[in-house]
Amino acid sequence: MKHIRLRRISGLALPSVFAAALFAATPFLSAQAQQQHAHVHGQMKLDVAIDGPTVVIDMESPLDNIVGFERAPKTDAEKATVEAAVAQLRAADKLFAIDPAANCKLGPVDLRSGALGLGKPDPNEPPGHADLDATFSFNCTNAAAAKFIDLNLFSAFKGLRQIDSQIASSQGQFKRQLKRPAGAQAAQPARLSWGK
Ligand SMILES: [Zn+2]
Repeated sequence: MKHIRLRRISGLALPSVFAAALFAATPFLSAQAQQQHAHVHGQMKLDVAIDGPTVVIDMESPLDNIVGFERAPKTDAEKATVEAAVAQLRAADKLFAIDPAANCKLGPVDLRSGALGLGKPDPNEPPGHADLDATFSFNCTNAAAAKFIDLNLFSAFKGLRQIDSQIASSQGQFKRQLKRPAGAQAAQPARLSWGK
C-alpha cells in the first residue's frame, strides 16, 4: 500500500518539477532570443549549416546594410536600389561561391523583410528599424566536402562592415568573424573557411 502511494505521489510531483524547470528556463531563452535578433548597423549574422546533401545559409541583417535605409522605398532611386538588391540576393550563387569540392547548385531562396513587403518577416524587429533576413539553400552532390565559401557580400553591399558567422558541419561547429577589407580589397571575395 505504502509503496503504491509513494509511486502515485512521485508521479504527481514529476510534472510540477518539469514545469518549474520550464519556467526557470524561460528568462534564459528570451535573453538568447534577443541576442539572436541583435540589430547593429554594419553587422550581419550568417549561419551556415551543412546537413546531408544541403548547405543552408541563414542571413540576418539590418536592412540598412543592404539598401541604406530601413523603410519602404519612396523615390524612384530608392525603388531601383531595392530592386537591384533583391535581384542580387535571389542570384545567391553569385554572392556565395561554395567550395567547388562540394559541387553545389542553388536551390530555394527565401527573403523576409517587412519594410520591403517580402516573405514572412520577423515580428521582433526593434521599433524604427527593419531587417532583411534570408535563407539560401544549396543542393550539393558532396556537401560534406565543403571547407569554405567565398562571400561577395562586402562588394555587393556597401553598408556591410562585419559578418559574424557560425558554421555547423560534420567536422564540428565553428565561429568566424570577417571584417570589411580596406579600400579596393573589399571588391574581392572574402573567404569564410573552416575545418582542416
Ligand atoms: Zn536599424
